[in-house]
Amino acid sequence: YYYAEKVRKAKYDLDEDEVSQYFPLENVRKGIFEMANRLYGITFVEIPDAPKYDPEVTVYDVLDSEGKHVAVFMTDYFTRPSKRQGAWMSEFKGSYIDDKGIAHRPIIYNVCNFSHPTADAPALLSIDNVATMFHEFGHGLHGMLSRAKYKSQAGTNTDRDFVELPSQIHEHWAMEPELLKSFARHYKTGETIPDDLIAKLQAASTHNQGFTTTELAGAALLDLKWGQLTNTDSIDVESFEREVASQLNMPAEVQYRYRSPYFKHVFGSDEYSCGYYTYLWAEVLDTDGFELFKEKGIFDPETARSFRENVLEMGGSEDPMELFIKFRGRKPTPDALLRNRGLIESKELNVNTLEHK
Ligand SMILES: [Zn+2]
Repeated sequence: YYYAEKVRKAKYDLDEDEVSQYFPLENVRKGIFEMANRLYGITFVEIPDAPKYDPEVTVYDVLDSEGKHVAVFMTDYFTRPSKRQGAWMSEFKGSYIDDKGIAHRPIIYNVCNFSHPTADAPALLSIDNVATMFHEFGHGLHGMLSRAKYKSQAGTNTDRDFVELPSQIHEHWAMEPELLKSFARHYKTGETIPDDLIAKLQAASTHNQGFTTTELAGAALLDLKWGQLTNTDSIDVESFEREVASQLNMPAEVQYRYRSPYFKHVFGSDEYSCGYYTYLWAEVLDTDGFELFKEKGIFDPETARSFRENVLEMGGSEDPMELFIKFRGRKPTPDALLRNRGLIESKELNVNTLEHK
């Protein structure tokens, strides 16, 4: 980690403070709303006098292209002493269609922990914060646009290894120059983010991905190995980890990302037992899905309609693989993930599809 950071500095020379000056929170908010408008035709109209649980919350009426009500969306972006760490999406009211066929629309919210504006600057987001905002908004769209009949299948009520597809795929738009240039403006001068800074950001995104990907795969596989044990009575944790590392041919240079005693995903609760793989798997889906947008145009109406109808609106009403195939036209392959992480160069270098593995 020490040397990786040195290499990153030497090769990419990214000044985080310089970058964040182009990302005042209100600009990024415009960015997510513009993305949703251009993809799905929805608009966000603030309801200033709506009831809210904290004065820092902003409430929006979400309308479709004909001005019809789609959802209520609430944002709660700043830290407060009473707020837990992290960022998340949830709902105050789920959507469903009642037995008379009437659609009940949802109330969805996003919570983050960004720093407040200061006396002389607005709230400036780091590049990770920007990704977080697009990520949680992607979950938000899953909830807002749901057309599932049952609450239990609406929006993010899907399989855990599918639920990060809508969130992660929308992170890609944040780094697309076409959208980036419309919202990333310097908070003092109003200058649009320069091309050379965009190029640097894009180049830095593949830094050290060989190591990181191996580390993630190692953690996911260790988690699955723990889950396959039927008897843990006299298990020695360290030797079990060593044994798994040797079965996996884990390179000596890559240590486990988490040692088992503090690997929360495995032992923290049942929710993520054998579920650490879901992050990488969702990335297979989101990078593969986003390549379709890259091929057709990132705001191509037909591709956006297909993603909306086959993924966002369906929630967990159908098998996730069926939904993905309806959108993508085929099963996912890991090629796009490898390209996105800079691990293979071009489309000619195909690895086997998952189907064959
Ligand atoms: Zn998420």
